[in-house]
Amino acid sequence: MNKIRIMDENLANKIAAGEVVEKCSSIVKELAENSVDAGATEIIIHLKEGGRGSIHVIDNGSGMEKEDAKLAFQRHATSKLYKDDDLFFIDTLGFRGEALPSIASVSHVTLKTSTGDIGTFLKMEGGVLKTIEETDARKGTILSIDHLFYNTPARLKYLKSEQSELASCVSFVERFSLAHPKISFTLTNDDRILVKTSGSGNLHKTIHEIYGLQISSKMIEISANNNDFDLYGYIGKPEILKSNRNHMIVMVNGRVIKNLDIIRAINDAYYTYKPDIKYPVVVLKIETDPTLIDVNVHPTKQDIKINKMNALYELIVTTIKEALYQNLLIPDAIERMSNTNPVKQEVMNSILKEESKNTFEKENVQATFDLGNVAVKEKSDTIIINSQMKQLKLYPVGLAHGTYIIAENEEGIYLIDQHAAQERVNYEKNMEALKNKQVYTTSLLVPITIELSNSEFIKIHEQETILKEIGFDFEEFGVNTFVFKGHPTWLLEGYEEESIRKIIDLLIGGLTGFDRVKFNESIAITLACKMSIKANMRISHEAQEELLNELCECDNPYHCPHGRPTIIKFSIYDLERMFKRAMN
Ligand code: ZN
Ligand code: ZN
Repeated sequence: MNKIRIMDENLANKIAAGEVVEKCSSIVKELAENSVDAGATEIIIHLKEGGRGSIHVIDNGSGMEKEDAKLAFQRHATSKLYKDDDLFFIDTLGFRGEALPSIASVSHVTLKTSTGDIGTFLKMEGGVLKTIEETDARKGTILSIDHLFYNTPARLKYLKSEQSELASCVSFVERFSLAHPKISFTLTNDDRILVKTSGSGNLHKTIHEIYGLQISSKMIEISANNNDFDLYGYIGKPEILKSNRNHMIVMVNGRVIKNLDIIRAINDAYYTYKPDIKYPVVVLKIETDPTLIDVNVHPTKQDIKINKMNALYELIVTTIKEALYQNLLIPDAIERMSNTNPVKQEVMNSILKEESKNTFEKENVQATFDLGNVAVKEKSDTIIINSQMKQLKLYPVGLAHGTYIIAENEEGIYLIDQHAAQERVNYEKNMEALKNKQVYTTSLLVPITIELSNSEFIKIHEQETILKEIGFDFEEFGVNTFVFKGHPTWLLEGYEEESIRKIIDLLIGGLTGFDRVKFNESIAITLACKMSIKANMRISHEAQEELLNELCECDNPYHCPHGRPTIIKFSIYDLERMFKRAMN
């Protein structure tokens, strides 16, 4: 880069401030990124009133010399060296070069910085330098922003409520700490600690420090790669789900990004492991050649475009699916006591109340049997290969409320939702049958005639091959009517007509952009539900036994095809604790 260009651009700064400083968290982001670039291993952020009052960032990074400190607040000034291989640089350059001067133009700033020699103390108001003098030589930088937007009252109005500003700061610092496990972060608001990480360099430990034991103990490590991408991270077991996508955290080459394609890949991987409107907790690190990413999207939006997205999509989906398949996912009925920071919990709860006003959704509070003082049990042996589920033997002992099978084995007691369980078994059978190229048709003794509306009739006529391919035998029979003489063998006896009508509905409903896989999925799910025993139907001991055996053989025995749980567990340990047989 050429010489640093400096102009009197206070007005431009103020205008730019409106674009750069959308909210307090964008200031926190800017300052924290500067600290990281300065090589800090410890970053402490103190907020007052969610950042509206003041923002102080303290780091132990390399610090600045006096001249650099002055230049940092001038537009287009940057002391950073251009690195060809860091494509993110292009993204951040425009933003970074302008951010500090922009922030300074609409606030009071004090800076104390030192490279280890003589320190510099600097004070600015509304972008005007008020004081610059020598100070002590503590290495690092302390930057304070007060009176934000004091000279642009119109802008001040754009700031959200204290709680809402705070929420986005907390969310940012959490994500940022996960992207930088080697750096210790502390975030406080009005002197209360909200985020604290140790900088251990261990991602799982950082997840634990941020989310607490309840979540960290239910994260599965994943790691995979293909020619272009390296994947590493942790995915949450389906029993921990959130109401929004915010807890799917994605980093590409060390930067937290927001990318809908990647989020979709993660979400697709959990298909039938969770209800559609719930989202998993996932921390995913992706490393790739910088030439495969295009950062020329909106600079503040953190979005990037990924070339070879299809390959990345495949890698993410197969890796997560495999990890879910390999792990025993029966949720414990007894939740471990959370060690979540109570102060943060309070803040987050009030934020959630605010959020739920808008979204009509509450943060997922896990279905928990609240038994009070069930102590925290540290256990890291949660990963058991799914083949063990296939070997698992569950012995039914009875049926409660005509709905839940109670079963036992040497490890504990299980409750199984009989409808959900059978739905899963039937779903996998149906999927298998539909995938099979070989079609088996059962002839109907009494043919079934189905009368349709004119438009429906035309649509089905056009798509007859789809129905014939899966084993239906039918022909035209008078006006807008078909006669069915045979159906695929897997159709439930006694429900033939209903099932045929359901499949016709699915076909008609899904015709625009017809997708074979999705069509099969919908048939499999719809018929699985239809075929499965309802609640309040008593089934025999033998039938219970058979159902449990079949469930254990499933690829995903833990959820019905709608993503609801099929089975929960009370471990021997939990029972002994509850009955005070075990005291530790
Ligand atoms: Zn159902
Ligand atoms: Zn279901």
